[in-house]
Amino acid sequence: MASIRRTLSPYNDRSYQNGLNSPFSPQSPSQKLFSQGRTTFSPVRRFVAGVFFRKHQPRKNFQLSWKKSLFRCFMCFFLGFLLGMAPFNNDFNELRQGDLRNSDFSFEMKPEVVSDKRTAADLASVEKPKEDDLVVAAVELGVLERTDKTDMKKVLDFVPGKQLIVVSPTYNRATQAYYLNRLGQVLRLVKPPVLWIVVEMNEASMETAEILRNMGIMYRHLVCVKNNTDVKDRGVHQRNTALEHIERHKLDGMVYFADDDNIYSLELFENMREISRFGTWPVGMLAQSKNKVILEGPVCNGSRVIGWHTNEKSKRLRRFHVDMSGFAFNSTILWDPKRWHRPTSDPIRQLDTVKEGFQETTFIEQIVEDESQIEGIPLGCSRIMNWHLHLEARGLAYPKGWMLPKNLAVVIPSK
Ligand code: UDP
Ligand code: MN
Repeated sequence: MASIRRTLSPYNDRSYQNGLNSPFSPQSPSQKLFSQGRTTFSPVRRFVAGVFFRKHQPRKNFQLSWKKSLFRCFMCFFLGFLLGMAPFNNDFNELRQGDLRNSDFSFEMKPEVVSDKRTAADLASVEKPKEDDLVVAAVELGVLERTDKTDMKKVLDFVPGKQLIVVSPTYNRATQAYYLNRLGQVLRLVKPPVLWIVVEMNEASMETAEILRNMGIMYRHLVCVKNNTDVKDRGVHQRNTALEHIERHKLDGMVYFADDDNIYSLELFENMREISRFGTWPVGMLAQSKNKVILEGPVCNGSRVIGWHTNEKSKRLRRFHVDMSGFAFNSTILWDPKRWHRPTSDPIRQLDTVKEGFQETTFIEQIVEDESQIEGIPLGCSRIMNWHLHLEARGLAYPKGWMLPKNLAVVIPSK
């Protein structure tokens, strides 16, 4: 087909018009044939030459009458008609019937036909791998520990659950490596798909990058670039960096804010997958300074939220009494607000301007209007599935001599 296009190219047309390479130019053999042997032509040759090469006719015939022109037209039409009716082979007919256009511009590859002499019974035994073979393969791959057929059935019936998008702000301190490793190990045990978005402030540290690389889970290591002077709560901005990322890339899953220093049970993550729009559960909070445990979160009747635990006086005025690690929501709310009948399409973000302890409620108020849009997760309201531990603050005083340069694990100099 390429050759067809080549011959139709304007370049070649032009060269013919210029007459340099024309088959009918004075130098061409065909022209020589007709011009040289004018006097020795056979009657047939003379006739053909007379019809097609007007300029080589003897002078007396040069001024053609209209009859002769009509005759030439008729001859051309007749020849074309004969060619059109000629029974060429099938390939040519296919081309004439419009396949020319398709085969010229598409890159479709037709599979080669290979004759297969196997019977239907042969094919059935070949195409379907036997269940025992699959069990052996699964054991070899480490998917199964024993050649147990019920386990195999579980592997074959596996349907991936909803993706979990776990967002963790983090920063350099003595226990950072331990926290990241602990949370990473838990996430590794959660059934995939799990995406861990870890966000650092202003630069991505090599140490965090290495921990993430070696964890063996799906992750994204993001950096929040912000001028430190306009930042009240760094974690808020780091979470917003993750929200922007989810929104920009339209990541689909259940978003959960998991601070690096909290502790989480595996069943929490499984329960999250049941949420449709927004789900919440009570969180145990260990307030070290007050030497007591506080419960924050919903009171439920089944999956319906009918009230809130309101233990802290300073936070009584909150609309929703939920901890940062006590809720999860569908990521599509961030980038497809119409689907969830959100009244505005303003970006959903955490606010750094609100009073301490009001970050959660002001954030949740952007996602839901009231309790009717909130789901209590299946196990959530009757069990504590994660703890918020106020174990340390920024700028702790470490024993003399401890070094916390850019390293995540503390270095204690020998005496
Ligand atoms: N965080 C951070 N940079 C900071 C302070 C906190 O990335 O300057 C992170 C921290 O690693 C944790 C989350 O933000 O994942 C919450 O911080 P913190 O545990 O100090 O807050 P609290 O538990 O007291 O609410
Ligand atoms: Mn904390």
